[in-house]
Amino acid sequence: MRLLTHNLLACHAKSCVSTSNNFPLSFKEVQLELIEADFNEPFLRGFLNKVDWNALVVASRQLGDASLPEKGPDPTDPMIDGETLKALHHVLLEIHVIEGQMVCPNCAHIFQIRNGIPNMVSASAKC
Ligand SMILES: [Zn+2]
Repeated sequence: MRLLTHNLLACHAKSCVSTSNNFPLSFKEVQLELIEADFNEPFLRGFLNKVDWNALVVASRQLGDASLPEKGPDPTDPMIDGETLKALHHVLLEIHVIEGQMVCPNCAHIFQIRNGIPNMVSASAKC
């Protein structure tokens, strides 16, 4: 599972969907794999319009990568710094979480990641 996916995941337990505190899920006990991906600047620029930058910064630091700046670039800026785009590319597309857990900041439910696939169905059973 890549951070591209993580950036879209929120806890959907009944007690959490009505809060704004069900995102981002925090990583615990992760095993990572780095897999090279083709650099695609138009894709990255398109993603910048949708990404929750703060969540991405927090998540990437939990995975041990501190390369993203605190403040995200302006998606409309045609002169985005190349280093920032490279860091974004690496963080979004090349870091794969193979095994581990994601914890909801609201209800503390743990979502397991196995073989790179997050199990997002278990929250409703609990809450
Ligand atoms: Zn929750």
